[in-house]
Amino acid sequence: MSEVRIRPRQVLVLIIVFIFVLLMVHRNGKRTCQGPEYLQAMYTKSLTDTLPKIYAITPTYSRPAQKAELTRLSHLFMLVPNLHWIIVEDANSTTALVRNVLLRAGLTDRFTQLNIKTPPEFKLQGKDPNWIKPRGVEQRNLALNWLRSHADVDRHAIVFFMDDDNSYALELFVEMSKIKPGRVGIWPVGLVGGLMVERPLLNEENKVIGFNAAWRPERPFPIDMAAFAISMDLFFKYPQAAFSYEVQRGYQESEILRYLTTSDQLQPLANNCRDVLVWHTRTEKTKLNAEEMLQRQGKRSDEGIEV
Ligand code: UDP
Ligand code: MN
Repeated sequence: MSEVRIRPRQVLVLIIVFIFVLLMVHRNGKRTCQGPEYLQAMYTKSLTDTLPKIYAITPTYSRPAQKAELTRLSHLFMLVPNLHWIIVEDANSTTALVRNVLLRAGLTDRFTQLNIKTPPEFKLQGKDPNWIKPRGVEQRNLALNWLRSHADVDRHAIVFFMDDDNSYALELFVEMSKIKPGRVGIWPVGLVGGLMVERPLLNEENKVIGFNAAWRPERPFPIDMAAFAISMDLFFKYPQAAFSYEVQRGYQESEILRYLTTSDQLQPLANNCRDVLVWHTRTEKTKLNAEEMLQRQGKRSDEGIEV
């Protein structure tokens, strides 16, 4: 019978292979959002029950592309079981158009439809271009008041200001669910502020030590509204936290955040702010010259049709 002899060199090779496999497994375990693993967190029943509720606050106003924008968002909501949508119409009353979008997505008990009209004098403060149209101020504040009187004080939840025309990855909501009580989570935003990506700068301990903003970098928080979400308890702790008409364009984010956090207390998410999971896209203004001509003749292409 021949004897099987294991040489020291073979043992060494085996050990190296073993260590390599161990390292790979470890690395995968640490990955946050590069692969479809994140879906597990969202759809495993036991985890779904423990995920904090995310209150997404969306100001919206009537224009030709409104239904298209909201339909797109409503389909995202169908994929995120722990989202509650507070949609605030910039209008004198809530509309059937918006309600129908919500109902058609099956969001029956996962939305709150509110309305408040931006006073026309605020929209027309046109002399200084920095003061034109503070968008969504009134609407976001109304939603915050609703939350303060309706949300469960004792239950951890997240608040996210979600404009109706941006593009959001599903993974963003998984990341947001990791926000700890008392904290504000932060991540990069694509296609904003004149850059491909606007993002916080972190030190070796993964603390926020600055921002890469090119547009008005002197702002206390030079970031977009889509760059952060807030632990709900902070809104109970600081009841005066709100948006304001009294600040210049681009300062709404700094205005709300100054009540709630400091930069070094921000909780970096999305792979330590290396992944882009939201883009500040803007929809082109719809051209309707032929429609206008038609309507001058007393006709219209959408007679009896909701577009
Ligand atoms: N918005 C609104 N009333 C307005 C203009 C905007 O409620 O008169 C909403 C809009 O639907 C969006 C948010 O406010 O959800 C931000 O507006 P917009 O996307 O136009 O801002 P920007 O892209 O310039 O940041
Ligand atoms: Mn926008």
